[in-house]
Amino acid sequence: MNFEAIRDQLEIYKAEGKKMFTTSSFQSHSIVLLHIISRVDKTIPVIFINTGYHFPETVEFKDRVAAEFGLKTVDLRSNTPKFMQRGPDGRLLFTSDPDHCCYLNKTQPVDALLMQNDIWINGVRADQSAVRKSMKVEQKAPHGAIRFHPMLDWNAKMIYEYQKEYNLPKHPLENSGYLSIGCEPCTRKVDPEMMEREARWYGMNKTECGLHTDLVSK
Ligand code: SF4
Repeated sequence: MNFEAIRDQLEIYKAEGKKMFTTSSFQSHSIVLLHIISRVDKTIPVIFINTGYHFPETVEFKDRVAAEFGLKTVDLRSNTPKFMQRGPDGRLLFTSDPDHCCYLNKTQPVDALLMQNDIWINGVRADQSAVRKSMKVEQKAPHGAIRFHPMLDWNAKMIYEYQKEYNLPKHPLENSGYLSIGCEPCTRKVDPEMMEREARWYGMNKTECGLHTDLVSK
């Protein structure tokens, strides 16, 4: 969808009285959707799923982007304290059960948020993974909410061109070789022979955190 189509759809949701929010991981490529939203409606809440495991650079970047674009960011945290997020060996869950760690810190808090909202504006792109390729622009989510995927047909070139046109800020770790940046324990630098998202949960049979697999309804 181009800017005009995204703007029109957001205005339709607004006219229908729908309650909206967006989530952002505040990676460089995610900033395009935030910029588009800031051009349409700065009051739409931008949820940062704060797992407590982010790079400090990501948290600083989030605050900088929010201030620059005039957006309202809200940190969303798990209700399960970290001392209860340990495996049988006493170590934090990301070392032994990353699926459950992602569930407690990402999926469960967003699931609760869906109960209070109608529209989840989500920046997934079809070219990012097989799971995302099978998604639709509008898709049902739990609790009667709708996932709206305005960036689904955008590709890396379109993202690059928009970033260039608006001189968008870049995540500070990008220059150090990080391309797909999530929680610090589950992110590594990209080697030349790696696909971008292989830098997440490296060496594990895991490519998604659950937000785009568990929070989709049939
Ligand atoms: S990405 Fe890693 S640290 Fe972050 S919630 Fe998932 S398993 Fe835990």
